[in-house]
Amino acid sequence: MPALTTILWVFSAVVFGFVLWKTGIGMLRSMTTPLPGPPPTGEMRRINVKYRCSVCGLELKMTLAPDEDPPPPRHCLEDMDLVAPIE
Ligand SMILES: [Zn+2]
Repeated sequence: MPALTTILWVFSAVVFGFVLWKTGIGMLRSMTTPLPGPPPTGEMRRINVKYRCSVCGLELKMTLAPDEDPPPPRHCLEDMDLVAPIE
């Protein structure tokens, strides 16, 4: 029959180990998968272009991109067609 203090020690060791393991996983996860924050607004370009999906006809307007000539977005598994830059 182990003493009560021994049981408590073992129990706290298990809890401590569990917490350490959890924080270790959390730290590892935060290191391996850093959240991709949005680039500073100064690095974004204000553009004004329209794209149309050649398959279903959907149109969308792009107003902000990392550069002035961004690759066209995809819709219906196809690259969307650039309609015209809006001045
Ligand atoms: Zn489409």
